[in-house]
Amino acid sequence: MAKYKLEYIWLDGYTPLASLRSKTQIKEYASFPALTDLPAWGFDGSSTQQAEGKSSDIVLKPVAVFPDSTRKNGVLVMCECFQHTGVASPSNSRATIPDDPDTWFGFEQEYFFYKDGRPLGFPEGGYPAPQGPYYTGVGYKNVGCVAREIVEKHIDICLDAGINLEGINAEVAKGQWEFQIFGKGSKSAADQMWVARYILTRLAETYGIDIEWRCKPILAPFQQPLDWNGSGMHANFSTKFMRETGGKEYFEKLMEAFSKNCSEHIAVYGPENHLRLTGLHETQSIDKFSYGVADRGASIRVPHSFVNSGYKGYLEDRRPNSAADPYLVAGRILKTIQSVPTK
Ligand code: ADP
Ligand code: MN
Ligand code: MN
Ligand code: MN
Repeated sequence: MAKYKLEYIWLDGYTPLASLRSKTQIKEYASFPALTDLPAWGFDGSSTQQAEGKSSDIVLKPVAVFPDSTRKNGVLVMCECFQHTGVASPSNSRATIPDDPDTWFGFEQEYFFYKDGRPLGFPEGGYPAPQGPYYTGVGYKNVGCVAREIVEKHIDICLDAGINLEGINAEVAKGQWEFQIFGKGSKSAADQMWVARYILTRLAETYGIDIEWRCKPILAPFQQPLDWNGSGMHANFSTKFMRETGGKEYFEKLMEAFSKNCSEHIAVYGPENHLRLTGLHETQSIDKFSYGVADRGASIRVPHSFVNSGYKGYLEDRRPNSAADPYLVAGRILKTIQSVPTK
C-alpha cells in the first residue's frame, strides 16, 4: 500500500471567466487508483461563487484521472460539481454537453506569460520591438530566458500524465505561446485541455509568472506598429463521417448549419471576443460567418488536404478564444454537426 496525493480539480463559479481550483486529499491504495477507486468529495462553494453561505457544500465527482509526475504518488483528478440535491451546479458545463467518442478535437491554446502585470519580456511602462521575430522565434532577444524552460517542463508533465499534447510554439506577440491538445470525444478532449491549463498555471507559480488567458490583454495604444495580437483557441474537429465519407454536398450543408448558428457559437467562444475578432490579425469579424480554403481570415478554415481528398478530413473553427471553456466549445460544435443529416 502507498499513500497517494489526490489533487481534485474543478471550475469555480466566477463569470464570465471560470478559474481552476484544486485541493489535495491523501488516500491509501495498493496501486495507482482508477477513476472508480476515487470517492466523491466536497468543498465550500460559498468561497468560489458556487453557493450561498447557508447551504454551501458542493459535491466533487471525479470524471477523469491523470498521473502527476511532479509529486511522489501524485494524481490529478478532474471533477464535475454538483449541488447536494444531486443537480449539476450552474458552473458545471461538462454535464450539459453532448459527447461522441468518434468526434475528434484538436485545440490550439494560445496564452501570454505575465510577470509584474505585463507580458513577459515587455519593459516597464513601454513596449518591446514590434511583432515580427517572435512567432516561432529563437534567441534571448525574442523569447527571453525563462519561457522555454516552462514550456519544456509543461510538455513533459502533460506527456507523463497521458495527455495528448501535440506540440508547442512561440506565438506572434512577445511573451505569447501556444500548445495543442488532441482528444477523442468532446468531454475527453476538454478534460485534457483543462488539466493541461491547470498544469501550466501551477508550474508557472515557481517562476513568479501568471498565465493570462484573456483574449486581448494588450489593447492600447491601438495603432501600428504597436497593435498586438490577441489569443485564440482554434478548434479543429472531425467526425467519423467527415473523415471516412465527407463530400462537397455534405460539407456545404454543414457550413450552412454553422452559418445559421453563428451567434450560438459566438456565445460560448469566450468573453471579450469582440476585441479579438475584428477582421484584423488573421480573424473574421465577430458578426460575420465565412469559410475558405487555407483562409486564415475566415471563421472556418478548410485545409487544402480536406478539399484535395474529396472534402474529407478535419476543419478549423478559428473563432473560439483563449479564455473559452473547451467543454462548451466542443459541445456546441458537436451540437451543430448533429443537426445536419448524413443520410
Ligand atoms: P495551425 O496551422 O492552425 O497553427 P496546428 O498545427 O497548431 O495548426 O494545429 C492543428 C490541430 O489540428 C492540432 O491540434 C491537431 O490535433 C488537430 N487535428 C489534426 N487532425 C485532426 C482530425 N482529424 N480531427 C481533429 N483535429 C485534428
Ligand atoms: Mn497553431
Ligand atoms: Mn497560433
Ligand atoms: Mn490554427
